[in-house]
Amino acid sequence: MALTGEVAHRHEADGHLRGPGTAVLVHRGVHRSVVIACPDGCGDTLTVNLDGRSGPAWRFYSDRQGMSLYPSVWRDSGCRSHFIVWHSRIYWCDWKEDALDEDNAALENRVRDILTPALTPYATLADRLGEVPWAVLVACNRLVSKHQAIEGKGANRGKFRRS
Ligand SMILES: [Zn+2]
Repeated sequence: MALTGEVAHRHEADGHLRGPGTAVLVHRGVHRSVVIACPDGCGDTLTVNLDGRSGPAWRFYSDRQGMSLYPSVWRDSGCRSHFIVWHSRIYWCDWKEDALDEDNAALENRVRDILTPALTPYATLADRLGEVPWAVLVACNRLVSKHQAIEGKGANRGKFRRS
């Protein structure tokens, strides 16, 4: 997913989209929304709210590896696309979370260092580290596979603690 522009008002965004999977940031004082040309090519334009004052808001991250959104984007109408954006890549959610993977030993160490005996959501851990939640989820899963972390079960899935 490529950011192809930044505008102040939502209505200005469409003219900056450059085809499926491109996105335009609407920023006016704070991030307001990100407008996405649906990556499946259906031709629809999605507006993802980034401003908590306007209702449920996604988190937007931009760094040298590209843009990320959290949580996943799930259309409940139209093409019903469901996808994750992480470091400008699209991960389709006919997915297993394990499809997300990245070898980042430094981040694994940082995550392990802040795990406590209490189950903590990976997004909370990500906030503490200033990292994208998807990257922290991957690090947590890798720590679990090395028996260095434990994931909760049932309603506590996605929460991790020290082993
Ligand atoms: Zn679509």
